[in-house]
Amino acid sequence: MDGFELQETDTLRVLGLTLDKNLNYVQHIKEVTAKSIKLYKKVSRTARAHWGLSPEILKTIYISVVEPTMLYAANVWAGKSQTAQVKVLLDRVTRTFGITICKAHRTLSLESSAILAGILPLDLRAVERSTLYRVRKTGKELDLLPGREAEITISPYDLPHPAKRRSINYGLVEDRQDLEKLLQLKMPIIYTDGSKIEGKVGAALSCTIEDKEILQKKLPLASYCSVYQAEAVALREAVKTMVKDRRFRKAFILSDSRATLDSLRNPSALHPIIAEIKDLISKLNEMEGEAQFFWVKAHIGIVGNERADELAKLAATSCKTVPVCDRFPVSFAKRLIRDSTLDTWQARYAESNKGATTKKFLPDVRRAYRIIRSLKLDNKVAQLFSGHGGFRAYLHRFKLAPDPFCNCDGETPQTVEHVILECPKFLRDRYDCECRMDQVIALSNLEELLSDKNHRGVFLAFALEVVKSTARANGSTSA
Ligand SMILES: [Zn+2]
Repeated sequence: MDGFELQETDTLRVLGLTLDKNLNYVQHIKEVTAKSIKLYKKVSRTARAHWGLSPEILKTIYISVVEPTMLYAANVWAGKSQTAQVKVLLDRVTRTFGITICKAHRTLSLESSAILAGILPLDLRAVERSTLYRVRKTGKELDLLPGREAEITISPYDLPHPAKRRSINYGLVEDRQDLEKLLQLKMPIIYTDGSKIEGKVGAALSCTIEDKEILQKKLPLASYCSVYQAEAVALREAVKTMVKDRRFRKAFILSDSRATLDSLRNPSALHPIIAEIKDLISKLNEMEGEAQFFWVKAHIGIVGNERADELAKLAATSCKTVPVCDRFPVSFAKRLIRDSTLDTWQARYAESNKGATTKKFLPDVRRAYRIIRSLKLDNKVAQLFSGHGGFRAYLHRFKLAPDPFCNCDGETPQTVEHVILECPKFLRDRYDCECRMDQVIALSNLEELLSDKNHRGVFLAFALEVVKSTARANGSTSA
């Protein structure tokens, strides 16, 4: 071509994504894995099981550097994330960093390390990313919510020319005196509000002239809509009313939602309802109408604002008309997608033959993340929840102890379950702990003891002491 001979290649790099001959993205994942492992080697120099960077800092590094590196362009390759070649690489990164974050022994399984570190396996995160990308970009319906469309932002190209973009400013009504000043101007005032109550969403207006309500409107929204959408719908309806109703052609609009008013002020806001409001304002101005916006502080006894709030709650709970807005916000899609990821992860975790000990303490992934968040992770906690540590059964597996048995009877394998639940050597401490919690310590209620914040501290103090003293007795270096 043009005097050059073109060479055939097996891979091609486009915008940081490596395409390979078979389009299975193995080469790309290999490259990002190598990058992450290189980072891991640097980090691990400053973060060992017993010293160095804390689990919180390591998790921040993982979430803000490793995940984005690994998941770059995931919407392109997520379809291949479950193929053996790709998954093995993704799992390797999840596990390596999981172990580092929770300060566990290097032998820990992927399942246990992800649970203890409070992270999700990368292959599941890749699928999550690409599903969300599709919803965001195309507004396509989600399998999880059939027949409904997402509210997608408008394209920046659909905004007017930058010189013609509008920034709509607002004033402040912070107390009754500010309101008195407005009332003295004898202009009609439209109070707007949006509300979420009992899982239902509504918006409303109360239109007043000389402090008397002339008109009110109640607008229900679909139950998955956000309060932001409700507030925006209320503002849109206020401006619509001004366009339609001569009496309100020039009026003040009072809203207690700073977020929506800020969006109106932002000349480049891409929210579709905000864009509609701006169009309506232009129309209103052409008719020589004028809307002035004010932010009003809520719950300071301003009657009109309380009235709009009451109407919005009624709109949410008792209005039977068709919702004025049934597009779901991206935040709602995000929650649904995360929920489905957790279902998949739960099923995979429960079926796996790995992480048997972790499952005894933390059988449910959702509750596990809640418990882990409330703990201060360290190597002892990881030993307790995984059984990988100074227990003879574990040490024997790696030829670090002559036999796996506990010296209480010389025939029961010394596992973490044994020392915590039944070993007579700790009978007294166990009994003390049970008395203090007024609960027995049994296999069936381990998760319950950890979930209950009144029992958690007491139980962990006992359990971690047992872990420590067992390791010490076994001469384990991790004591
Ligand atoms: Zn024993």
